[in-house]
This record gives sequence, C-alpha cells and structure tokens, in this order.
Amino acid sequence: MAIIGIDLGTTNSVLSIYEGGKPVVIANAEGSRVTPSVVAYTENEGTLVGDMARRQCLVNPLGTIYSIKRFMGKRYDEIPESERKSVPYETCDQLNGDLGVRIHGKIYSPSEISAQILSKFKTCAEQFLGKPVTEAVITVPAYFNDAQRRATQVAGEIAGLKVRRIINEPTAAALAYGVDQDKDEKVAIYDFGGGTFDISILELGGGVIEVLATNGDAHLGGDDIDQAIADWLFDRFKAENHMDIRGDAMIAQRVREAAEKAKMELSSMVTTEIYLPFLTADASGPKHLRANLSRAQLEAMMQPLVQRSLDCCKRAFDDAGLKPSDVAEVLLVGGSTRIPLVQAEVERFFGRKPNHSLNPDEVVAIGAAIQGGVLSGEVNDIVLLDVTPLTLGVKANGGLMVPLIDRNTTIPVKKTKLFSTTVDNQESVTIDVYQGERQFAEENRFLGQFELSDIEKAPRAVPQIEVSFDIDANGVLRVSATNKKTNKNESLVLMGAGGLTDDEIRSAIADAEAARDADEKRKNLQVARNKAESLNLSNARMLREQSALASEDLIKKTKDLLERADMTLNKDDATLEDYESLSADLSACSCEWHELVYAKEKEERERAEAEQRAQQQAQDPSANQGDSGTQA
Ligand code: AMP
Repeated sequence: MAIIGIDLGTTNSVLSIYEGGKPVVIANAEGSRVTPSVVAYTENEGTLVGDMARRQCLVNPLGTIYSIKRFMGKRYDEIPESERKSVPYETCDQLNGDLGVRIHGKIYSPSEISAQILSKFKTCAEQFLGKPVTEAVITVPAYFNDAQRRATQVAGEIAGLKVRRIINEPTAAALAYGVDQDKDEKVAIYDFGGGTFDISILELGGGVIEVLATNGDAHLGGDDIDQAIADWLFDRFKAENHMDIRGDAMIAQRVREAAEKAKMELSSMVTTEIYLPFLTADASGPKHLRANLSRAQLEAMMQPLVQRSLDCCKRAFDDAGLKPSDVAEVLLVGGSTRIPLVQAEVERFFGRKPNHSLNPDEVVAIGAAIQGGVLSGEVNDIVLLDVTPLTLGVKANGGLMVPLIDRNTTIPVKKTKLFSTTVDNQESVTIDVYQGERQFAEENRFLGQFELSDIEKAPRAVPQIEVSFDIDANGVLRVSATNKKTNKNESLVLMGAGGLTDDEIRSAIADAEAARDADEKRKNLQVARNKAESLNLSNARMLREQSALASEDLIKKTKDLLERADMTLNKDDATLEDYESLSADLSACSCEWHELVYAKEKEERERAEAEQRAQQQAQDPSANQGDSGTQA
C-alpha cells in the first residue's frame, strides 16, 4: 500500500511518493510541484486550495486562509493579539478554548482548514497512481508540541488519510539528503522558508537521528524580504508621484507580488526591472511603477534579516554546547536558501560550504516519502529513524526481565511470547511491564501492570498465556495477554516510550552497562535456580501421582533428593554449582520416572488396541480376512 509523504508548510506544501525505487514529487492538478498553503471558502465556487485560492484573495480576503499552520493545535488565549491581527481573516475562541477561524459566519478549526490541503493532495496522489491512497507521513517542525502534532494528525484523519507517522522536518531533510546514518556525526539543517526560519542541529549514529537543539524565528522568512523590497518601491513611488499607495490593499498586493518576482530573479541575475503599469491614476492620468533593482541593493536590504537567522543559529549552538565547526555538514532547506547572499552568509558562519544539492523546496516532502517507503516496506536499505530507545519486557519468575522488544528496534513492531503459570492451579497471572537494560525487572523502569484472571485449573506450566507487545508508528505501546485455551484477553495501553527524557535514556543505558557483569552472574544464578525449582516440582508430582509404578529404591532416592532440593532452594547462599548439581540429579531422577510412566502408557495403549481388535473380530469375523473382504 502506497504511503504518501507530505510537507505541510506554512507558506507552501509539497506532495511526494516513493515509487519505482525512488522518491517522486507529484505535481498538483494545476501542474505545479509546490502548492501554496492557502485555502479559500467561496460563495459560488466552493472551497479552493493552492494557486486558485491565492488568486482570488483580493476579492475574498475574509474567506482566504493563509498560514493556518501557525494556529494548529493552539488555544485562543495562547496567541498574542498582534499575531491574530496579522492575518486578514478572523480568528475566534471556539467554545472549548481552542482557536477557531470564523469564515462567512461559520467556525472552522485549523485542522479542518489544513485538511483541505491534505485532501487535495490525496486526490492528486490517487490520480497519479490510479488507485486509492489512504495513508500518509506528514512532517512538522521539530519544536511542535503534542497538541500541534495531534492537530496535524487530526487534519489527516479529516482528509481521509491515516497518518502513519508524524516526522520532524529536519529529520526528513536529513533523510532526503541521504546523510550517512551509520556514521556518527552531527549535521545542521538551515531552513529558511517563506514565513519562518528554523535551525536544527542533529546527531546521527547507529541508524538514529536525534535532534540536539532547535531554534528559530516564527516571523522571519522570504515574505519579510518581499516586504522590504515593496517598502522600497512604495517610497520610490511616493517620491516620484507624491502619492502614498501603501494603504490600498489591492495595489499593495500587486507590489508585493512584483517584489517577490524580482527577488527570485535576483537569485540568478545581478539586476532586474520591476514594471507595474497602470498601478493607479490621478487627475494627470494613469501612473506606472518602473524601477531597476540590483542584487547589491537587495543584499543591503536583506542583510539584517539574514543576520537574524544567524543569531538563531548561534543560540542553537550555545544550547547544544557545540561550535559551528562541530557539524560535518550543513543542509539547506526552504526556498529562501536559493538566495546567493544567504548561501554566502551560511558558509561564513559555519566555515564550510553548505550542501544545496537538492531542491530546497522539495527536500522535506522527499524525506517524508522515503519514510513512507520505509513504512510500506519498499525501502529497506535505509536504517530507520524511529526506534525504541530502551528494551521493553515483562517481569518473569524470580524477578528476571524477559525482553519482548529490544532496544533500538524499529517501530512499528509487534512481538509475542508464550508464558505460563508458576504454581499448580494458579488462577491468574500478573503482567508487569518494564523498560530498561538491566536483567532484573525491578531495576528497570516500571511502566504498568495488569492481570489476566479465570485461568482454568491446571498443573503449573500447562496453561498457555500469549503476551504481545505492539508499538504503533507513533510510539504507543499496547501490551496484551491472551489465554490460548479460552481466548480471554486483557490489555494495557501505554503512551509513548514511557515518557523518558533523553538524559534518562542515556543514564539507563550507562547504568546497565556498568552493572552488566554483576547482573549476568545474578541472572545465571536465577536461571539455574528456576530450573532446579521446576525439576523439583516435577519430581514431587511424580512421587505424588505415580508412586505405584516405582520401586522402593526409586521412591527413597526421590524422597532424599526432594529433601536436598528443599535445603538447597531455601539456602540464602546457594551457589551456581549447588543449583547445577541439584538439577543434574533431579533431571536424572525425573528421567527414571518418565521412563516408568512411558512404559505404563505404552502397555495401556497396547492393551487397549488389542481389546479393540478383539471386539471388532467378535462383531465382524470377516474383518480380518484381507483385501478380498473389503472389495466384495
Ligand atoms: P518555502 O516556505 O520553503 O516554500 O519557501 C518559500 C519562500 O522561498 C518564498 O518566500 C519564496 O519567495 C522564496 N523563494 C523561492 N524561490 C526563490 C528563489 N529562486 N530566490 C529567492 N527566493 C525564493
């Protein structure tokens, strides 16, 4: 089943899929690889998404929703008034305190609005593939909190997409650049988009990508550069025509669009002409705007903005306790990193040439598609990112930790193991779930407990209890226990990896390493004891139930052995050798009993068969006369 990858951006969104052995960006219905993240609710044309929504914004400013990502998963009172006022549409307090958007009298949640973009992508992907698409990987900024991630997931659900994984944008970029995850190294992702700037410092190693630090500015992007050029144009126009055109929304929009076009041209040319005919008119006639802008002039205008991005980088390095020279590679993401000045300043800051081998608009979506390929099983030469940070298991007899899912296992994953009762006629078992690397459960982190009851009366070790650990793509662990005979089932759902911080994970691993030798000895001792205990119980049962078969000698030998076992098992300082020699003797004794029981069973079986034959013969004397009898 194909899983699409979606970069759901603040300004633009991109759709990609892993197909035919490589990630492919899918163009939208209008033929563009990049879709503006704009949704318009119109009176006559229904809901429009992307370029079509953007084009009609001047006639429908209150129904055209830009930058909805800023409001995803936010409560109304969390957003400063200045930010709410920075968008032309109306935000409001939904009754539950969440932020909503009032459009033509109806309130929509940010998830519902984002779902329109996702739904358009679902249709595009279905047309591209010629089959239904129901699953997606969606990227979010690394700093997104749970509510924002959840709101993104809900947007997917509304659009009819099961969100198989929410991944961090910098992680997706690292995947797309194919940085070598087997090498232990740090990389920086410098992401300068249309509306926001983000810097992330990642650590790669052992197939895991970890975010060490992030920083950013939610109000710094290419839009600010466009605005700087537009301001310069307004000033020029005023100086030439003595008219201020800033206040006219329609004119201002035309100027900003021309400014963006000029900015983009100056990424490859050193000078460009801006020409806006019939911009306005006065008594003397129509007024046109014409100006030449050079790359040098643009660079002077945008220098302070680039500096702000570098200030964020500096803060991220300070937080991580690292220097720019500690990173092995700087990866560029976001359309604004096409600007030569940005590339030059990044190179100066990091002291190395940034890697801009990939299309910066598409890298995040491509990373999401690769992740989709990994989840659908199409990509298997990439070590996956999300793994269980610590071993998960249950507490078994004697307090031993029995691992079901080992540390660094790729998720989603499901593992099962059979367990049983430890005493005769045990009616219930308790499943204690632990996480950690130590061999004794109590020394690991306790995650939860539940009980499976109504187990049928039976000798120990006979009932079959299947315990399964199932971690879904979002890291939610479900532990269940099923009685194989009755199918009775109980389960427990644990969120996340138990909420351990990175430091807790690191210290759990270090503790386990330090204690490994001592733990190993204790574990071997416990395993030897468990074996002796089990053999002891089995010999005791033989003595109780089968003594009619045994010789006096065997009965005496068994009684002596059980006495010795009792002493050894109750001795506090019993050694590994004590348990092993006891087990060897118990095992030999147990063999003798089993031979007797086997011989008795064989004799009974033979007697029963002989009786059956005799009975058949009495009823049908011809039955034994060979083939001719059956053919007649
Ligand atoms: P993103 O948010 O990553 O989609 O980036 C969008 C921003 O990149 C917008 O501000 C665009 O104007 C800007 N952008 C795209 N292409 C170029 C280019 N060739 N030169 C300068 N800026 C660009």
